Amino acid sequence: MPLVSQRPCTDPLNWNLYADFSGEMYIPFHDYVQPEQTCQVDVPFPQFLRLPRELQLRILRSCSSATLFQLMHVSSATRDEARKLFWSDPGARYVVDGAWLQAGGFSGHTVDDVAALALMKHVEVDFGTGGPFVRRAWDDGEPQYGRRPSPADAAERMADAFWQTLQRCLPCATNVVLKDSELGHTKEGDAAPAVLTLLAERCPAGIRASASCLQVVAGCSYLMRESLWQPVWHGRSQPATWNRVDSFDDTTQSVLPPAKTFRGPVGAFCRIDYNVRRLSYLYGARRLLLIQAMEAYYTQNPQTPFVCPVPECDFRFETPRAWAVHATDELHDVMDFKLPTETLEMLFSEHDARLARMEQDIADTIIRLRLEWGEEGSEQRRKREEEFLHQLQHDPAYAQAKPPRECAVWHRYLIEMNNEKTAYSEQ
Ligand SMILES: [Zn+2]
Repeated sequence: MPLVSQRPCTDPLNWNLYADFSGEMYIPFHDYVQPEQTCQVDVPFPQFLRLPRELQLRILRSCSSATLFQLMHVSSATRDEARKLFWSDPGARYVVDGAWLQAGGFSGHTVDDVAALALMKHVEVDFGTGGPFVRRAWDDGEPQYGRRPSPADAAERMADAFWQTLQRCLPCATNVVLKDSELGHTKEGDAAPAVLTLLAERCPAGIRASASCLQVVAGCSYLMRESLWQPVWHGRSQPATWNRVDSFDDTTQSVLPPAKTFRGPVGAFCRIDYNVRRLSYLYGARRLLLIQAMEAYYTQNPQTPFVCPVPECDFRFETPRAWAVHATDELHDVMDFKLPTETLEMLFSEHDARLARMEQDIADTIIRLRLEWGEEGSEQRRKREEEFLHQLQHDPAYAQAKPPRECAVWHRYLIEMNNEKTAYSEQ
């Protein structure tokens, strides 16, 4: 999804918007399947099932994703067809963690619902900063850093294992975008990262693999857009050539998969990871909301001359849109200027209070888990240890690469329960 939409944004502010540190936007699954208020029709339609099958299918194909999602859960008659259509909707590109696949795709190493991953057709495999194979080895889902292999070397040695894991974890995925989130290391007009194209060229039959990365927009310092490349094949013995295609399709959304059910003591611990991630996405979107709010304000209250509100910036603009692009490229943030109305001040302070409450909830959860962990040598602690290890051993939703006492989540749990000051509380 582009960092700045091609069209001026006049929609109301979406306080549930997720964005990562680079400003790339994501839709959380629960928002993606949320029916819009205006579309809710609570009228029984018993005749539907008496319609010819072909007509039923035509109606289902015209339903929104939110409606299909509801039909998957309420109507046994349409469940299968609705499910098939829902998970193959080209309007949603589900974001899958590439590092998780490289580490073997164990269910215990992800907070995503692995049963849902198995149904997705259009996926975006995000390898994070540095792209695929930046880490040479994996220890139970924890990356081990080392010298970075050359793209050709990495693709040669690791591509087959990667695609095998992808096909096991995502058996329905036929449209796969391989993505490198390394920031600003290429500019618009540069070729696709070689490590992505080499990996994509080794994809199994039946999968269409493309490559994507963020590139700095020509003439800008920080403003980035997603570039997407697709291969063109010239015969079996010829290498593919890679063409940049227009990826600025505002109808395709990057959707974060649904979370797994966080059950048992391991689930309670892993839910913290999920909530920390969720909070960081909400904080990541805050600057985007601010720029969007200012753009909407200046659209409704045109001013001449139009001057950037950041003190000492003094740039003048023809349109609110031009200011939004400038503010994004200059990394203007909330502390840089005062919001123009009390209503906006109030909305942003309410949003900040909500984020602060979420942060407090995470801290409270850790304190509660430490209380349940009990004193050293106590029966309570022995019981909790046993329950945690038993779940790691037997619960398929938390399958690990190693025996329970050797796996990374157990060690992280011990550190978190025994330390007063932790990675979470420092954030
Ligand atoms: Zn400015």
